[in-house]
Amino acid sequence: MKLIFEKSVKGRGSSILGKCDVEYAALPEALARTQAPALPEISETDLSRHYTELCHNVHGVNCGFYPLGSCTMKYNPRIDEEIAALPGFTAVHPLAPADTTAGCREVLDKAGEYLCEVTGMDGMTFQPAAGAHGEFTGILLIKKYHDSRGEAHRNKIIVPDSAHGTNPATAAMCGYQVVNIPSAPNGCVDLEALKAVLGDDTAGLMLTNPNTVGIFDENILEITRLVHEAGGLCYYDGANLNAIMGAVRPGDMGFDCIHMNLHKTFATPHGGGGPGAGAVGCKAHLKEFLPTSALMEGEGALQMRSFAGNFLVVVKALAYIMTLGREGIPEASANAVLNANYLMRRIQGTFEPAFDRICMHEFVLDLSEFKKRTGVSALDVAKSLIDYGMHPPTMYFPLIVHEALMLEPTETESRETLDWAADIFRKLYELAETDPEYMHNAPHSAYIARPDEVRAARTPILRYTAE
Ligand SMILES: *Cc1c(COP(=O)(O)O)cnc(C)c1O
Repeated sequence: MKLIFEKSVKGRGSSILGKCDVEYAALPEALARTQAPALPEISETDLSRHYTELCHNVHGVNCGFYPLGSCTMKYNPRIDEEIAALPGFTAVHPLAPADTTAGCREVLDKAGEYLCEVTGMDGMTFQPAAGAHGEFTGILLIKKYHDSRGEAHRNKIIVPDSAHGTNPATAAMCGYQVVNIPSAPNGCVDLEALKAVLGDDTAGLMLTNPNTVGIFDENILEITRLVHEAGGLCYYDGANLNAIMGAVRPGDMGFDCIHMNLHKTFATPHGGGGPGAGAVGCKAHLKEFLPTSALMEGEGALQMRSFAGNFLVVVKALAYIMTLGREGIPEASANAVLNANYLMRRIQGTFEPAFDRICMHEFVLDLSEFKKRTGVSALDVAKSLIDYGMHPPTMYFPLIVHEALMLEPTETESRETLDWAADIFRKLYELAETDPEYMHNAPHSAYIARPDEVRAARTPILRYTAE
């Protein structure tokens, strides 16, 4: 596809702008251009076609199946966008007098109350702007707690190897030593390994649950009991709460603190660099350390971000919770888990799951045997899916599974779509036997097939230089 600059024809254009009806202000000579900018010159129709063509070459949830695991586009209802766009929410200034913003305050309070109910926590902050930022906030709460009890010597945070990559990074950013522990063969935390590292220096444990292989840790009560017994606190990475919401509550499992990604589970689209919110909930004994809401108040109070955080994301979360209600929330998580298990079993027999057991909202395929036999890699399979109109799943993550493909179908896909997707996986499994070369060169239908990913990330060309 051509760039818009390459479609430009000198002298062509569409003058749809009216004449300026105010006086021009003269710019100082030093600031003025010496040459007119090299803008593309193109007719209105061609311009419209250009953007429509670009749009057709982007794959989103509105175009087709998007099973990207871990950081999925979950359900983003349009009605929540409409509610968040109401002028009463968008045209309010954070420093507006409190008696004019009671409605916004109510949104924050209600959303906090409902999310406490969903998670089993006693307090909530919406300041953190992302999941990892929420983790950072939560671990600082734990640190303040220990400091306040004269236990600042607790300097270790335990992180299982099946945790999301942000967990160890967060602990290190908070100044903790990260103690990694391995998983047992069943994908859960190895209890003996946990016991071996617990001690007087344990500040806490960070658990991603379901973990990055999509498994709910069956020893979760024992894990939190052991950590508490050693004097540590337990942090729950609840980024993907659509696996458990309305079914079980981290607060009841013994966790002291949690973050949720409102931009994954609670209606705001994830990805694309838009605003997010990592709501952090905590139990009563951590509540006094929560960030203060508007401006810095009190000595040593945490402030993670300006004002109340990304407020409109909270509006969407509240709209989502109120739309689903007490019945809809557990139904959404039940469907997310059902869909993942259905798809996993429909694919099984060809590509094999890394762990042959019931999964939660996502599952991981292990293609290492398959690659040894056919030479076709997880990357080749992912690229081949593009030709069928499916967004590739997450690849090569988690690191504990080699040749991993991680799929999360989400709660909103129909059985027909899941069957369609499973059939494509099975087809590709067979194609690898007969025509591996074709798959090494996939995709065959996209403008860009196999970019040099390192170069694309490190030295992207973001600017067109006119000749
Ligand atoms: C996405 C995710 C995070 C990080 O969230 P960001 O908003 O990308 O910072 C943390 N933990 C888990 C399990 C996640 O899936």
